[in-house]
Amino acid sequence: MPKVIIDPDRCKGCGLCVYSCPKKVLELNQKNLNKKGYMPSKPVHPEKCIGCAICAMICPDCAITVIREKGRENDGKKVSDERK
Ligand code: SF4
Ligand code: SF4
Repeated sequence: MPKVIIDPDRCKGCGLCVYSCPKKVLELNQKNLNKKGYMPSKPVHPEKCIGCAICAMICPDCAITVIREKGRENDGKKVSDERK
């Protein structure tokens, strides 16, 4: 199953990932601010993630990593799977 990981302290709470996710996996955390004082994005429905990596590609602060396969990552710059 794909996994989305967010570094809360790199996040500026812009919400681009939240609005871009086709599966509504992410929300801004309104209870805990990060070190910069922003509401960071967090996965609230991680089981719905399809590993599309749109969130990672759109994040202006490279705060998101999507893991689709064991040992392989997609941070928006790397090819992350072996489908051709
Ligand atoms: S990888 Fe796709 S489905 Fe998963 S959280 Fe990111 S945008 Fe949503
Ligand atoms: S796109 Fe990046 S900076 Fe913006 S809310 Fe999502 S994780 Fe935070």
